[in-house]
Amino acid sequence: MTALKDVISCISDYDPDALPVARANEIIRSFVRPVAEMESVAVRAALGRVLAEDLISPIDVPAHDNSAMDGWAVRFADLSQQADVALTEIGTAYAGKEFAGKVGPGECVRVMTGAVMPAGTDTVVIQEVGKVEGSRVTIPAGQERGQNTRSAGEDLERGKPALRAGALVRPAELGLIASLGIAQVRVRRRLRVAFFSTGDELRSLDEVASGAAGPLKKGEIYDSNRYTIWGMLERLGCEVIDMGVVRDDPAQLEAAFRRATAAADAVITSGGVSVGEADYTKQMMAKLGEVVFWKIAMRPGRPMAFGRIEGKDNGAYLFGLPGNPVAVMVTFYHFVRGALLLMMGRNDTDLPLLRVKSEEAIRKKPGRTEYQRGTLRCTGGEWSVRLTGAQGSGILRSMSEANCFVVLGHEQGSVKPGDPVDVMLMDGLV
Ligand code: AMP
Ligand code: MG
Repeated sequence: MTALKDVISCISDYDPDALPVARANEIIRSFVRPVAEMESVAVRAALGRVLAEDLISPIDVPAHDNSAMDGWAVRFADLSQQADVALTEIGTAYAGKEFAGKVGPGECVRVMTGAVMPAGTDTVVIQEVGKVEGSRVTIPAGQERGQNTRSAGEDLERGKPALRAGALVRPAELGLIASLGIAQVRVRRRLRVAFFSTGDELRSLDEVASGAAGPLKKGEIYDSNRYTIWGMLERLGCEVIDMGVVRDDPAQLEAAFRRATAAADAVITSGGVSVGEADYTKQMMAKLGEVVFWKIAMRPGRPMAFGRIEGKDNGAYLFGLPGNPVAVMVTFYHFVRGALLLMMGRNDTDLPLLRVKSEEAIRKKPGRTEYQRGTLRCTGGEWSVRLTGAQGSGILRSMSEANCFVVLGHEQGSVKPGDPVDVMLMDGLV
């Protein structure tokens, strides 16, 4: 296994105290490795999972040339570009029930959508344009060769990869796999991720639920990070291991890190990684593994720890996120998400940025990346974005009200009303 310091030594202008977002991602992504284990699951159980191997098509899809429309299958050679032509209908082909005979000159066969093209025919004329008199059908001039037909293998070709290793199985892939007649697929095993919150000021909902604790004491807050982190991990399809709130105590922290490392491929913590933090979280991370502490040139989110903790039998990647609730979500989405997807074996991790008009002025200093929370809306046929009120890194409402991030790049300065800005949607079709 490559050491983190060797990965970092390949990065130009490495400055842990002012690390651009792109550099941090470069380091994280070149350090993490996908889980090796695979398993076979039934097609439906593969929803949300990642294919472990290329899926080679055992058949052509469609398996035969067939009609794309209801109409008549004809021999293009019989038709004329100048004059109407009358043909004799000699039978019918249905989807799943083919026409057994051969179609000779001057003949045609009534076909339904999906019916195998009768032998001798190459073109379908839609039923709306044919004029029927008894068994005679008049076809207008000017048809095109091969029109309204689907050729064997045009969707998927036998022997070729229908899906690539690393593909996420979405509803479209479920259907595609089923269309190949494949009932079981090889996927990577689920990624196991353990997480806990740190901080003596935190009150856990577990105490609330059990009725053990009274109202919040002065300076106490409810632990919300374990809920956002849990939700984000579930949505990614991880196996989630919630380790609760860990007090700022060296023995408890060490035990938590050891248990998390033994159980999981990745460990996520929140809190305790800021500069001048007067607690043991950073100390413990540094003691148990190869961990770097960064100040990232971004807002919200600045502090973050990253590295690997080694256990007796296995190790785990560590993501030490800041404590502020919005900073947790932003650093998760923009660093941890991509890293976990790579660990799951995914071959695509980037999310698209769209450019829309900003409805308002946004103050921004060059030299850091900002992820402001915004609402995209369409007025008069044009999409535009506005910010969701106060953008403090503790104001979780700004995330809840938003449907997108307004991504203001490292070099970008202030935005004027009407200027285009990049946005990243928070929800997608999956
Ligand atoms: P820290 O990075 O530990 O200094 O935390 C920064 C801020 O985030 C402090 O105001 C903490 O009280 C708050 N915070 C830390 N952990 C949590 C948590 N699990 N839930 C909600 N807020 C938190
Ligand atoms: Mg703290």
